[in-house]
Amino acid sequence: MEQKKNIKSYSRSELQQIMTELGEQKYRADQIRRWLFNDRSSSFEAMSNLGSSLRAVLSSGYSIPSCAIIKEQRESAADNIEGTTKYLVSLHDGLEVETVLIPSPDRKTVCVSSQAGCPLGCTFCATGYMGFTRNLNAAEIVEQVYLADDKTTKGDISNVVFMGMGEPLLNLPNVIEAVDILSDQRFDFSLPQRKITISTVGLVPGIDRIARSGLKTKLAVSLHAADQRKREQLIPASKEHTLDRLHKALAGYTDKTGEPVTLVYMLLDGMNDTPDDARMLAKFSRGFLCKINLIDYNSIVNMKFKHVNSERQDHFIAMLVDAGLHVTVRRSHGASINAACGQLALSEKKAVSSARYHS
Ligand code: SF4
Repeated sequence: MEQKKNIKSYSRSELQQIMTELGEQKYRADQIRRWLFNDRSSSFEAMSNLGSSLRAVLSSGYSIPSCAIIKEQRESAADNIEGTTKYLVSLHDGLEVETVLIPSPDRKTVCVSSQAGCPLGCTFCATGYMGFTRNLNAAEIVEQVYLADDKTTKGDISNVVFMGMGEPLLNLPNVIEAVDILSDQRFDFSLPQRKITISTVGLVPGIDRIARSGLKTKLAVSLHAADQRKREQLIPASKEHTLDRLHKALAGYTDKTGEPVTLVYMLLDGMNDTPDDARMLAKFSRGFLCKINLIDYNSIVNMKFKHVNSERQDHFIAMLVDAGLHVTVRRSHGASINAACGQLALSEKKAVSSARYHS
C-alpha cells in the first residue's frame, strides 16, 4: 500500500497546486492551513468547512503527523530564577531536535531548530559534531513554537529566534514559510515578524536573499572573530563566506532594510578575546548599522574552548564601548542544562550510543 504523504510538508503554494489538481478552488489550501496551523487539527474529519468528498480524498492520501516533546530539562530556581527550559522534540520520522524556552522579565523567547544536525561543523558547536541528517519542514519549525507555547501561559511567547540546531540560511524556503505561518495575522498566534530573529553564521547568498525578500524579521550574525584566520578555525564555512564578502552583504542588507544587524560574538578564552581582537571587531563593525551582542561561552564537555574570566570580558567590552559601539552582554542561559544549540541532543545521542555499547 502506498504510504500516505505528510500534508504539513507542503507549502501554501504547493497545497494550492494540490487543490487545483483535485479540481478544488485554491482557497481550500488556506482553509486547510488554518485547520492545521491555527486549530491544530489531527484529523481531516474535523475540517468541517471542506466538502465530505475532499475530506475523504485527503484522508486516504495524506497523514497529519505531529511533533512531540519527549524530554524536558528545566533549570532549577537556584541556577536561574527565570527557569530556562530545554525540550527534546521528536519529529514524525523519529529524528530529534532541540527547542529552548527562555523566559526573562520582559519576554518569553522560543529558540527553534531549523535542521536535524548541521553540515557546517563549527568547532565550538555541539550540533556541528553531530553531522547533518535533514532539513526541517516549515510545520516542524512552527510546531516547536507551539509546543513551547503549550508549556507556558497562552499568548506569553513574545519572540522566536532561529538559533537552535542547524543553519537557517541552508533551509531558507522552509524558514520563510515558517515565518509566514507564525506571523499570519489570520491565526490566533500571530507574532509580528519583527519579533522573529534569523541567526546565521554569515552565509552571504542567504543574507542577500533575506535583504531582497521583504521579510521584516531581524538578522543576527554569529561573527565570533573579526580576524579571517581565527574565524576560519571557528567557522569552516567562513573560508568561502569571507569577512570581506560578509561585510559587503551586511552593508547591502542594512542599506536595503534600514534595520541594524546584531553581531553575535562569543568570547572564547585565548582564542578571540585579546585587545587586538576587540580592535578588529570594532573595525569590522564600521560601514553598516549594527549592535554587538557578546555572549559567554557555554562550556561543552570534550571541547577545547573555555569561557573568559570577567576581568578580561570587562576589558573587551570597555574597548568596544570606547570605540562607540552599542554593546549588550548576555549571560549563557541554560549553562547548567546543556542549553547551547545541539547539546541536549548530543548528550542524548551519547547516552544512546553508550547504552548500545554497553549492551
Ligand atoms: S553554530 Fe550553527 S551553523 Fe555552526 S555547526 Fe552549529 S548549528 Fe551549524
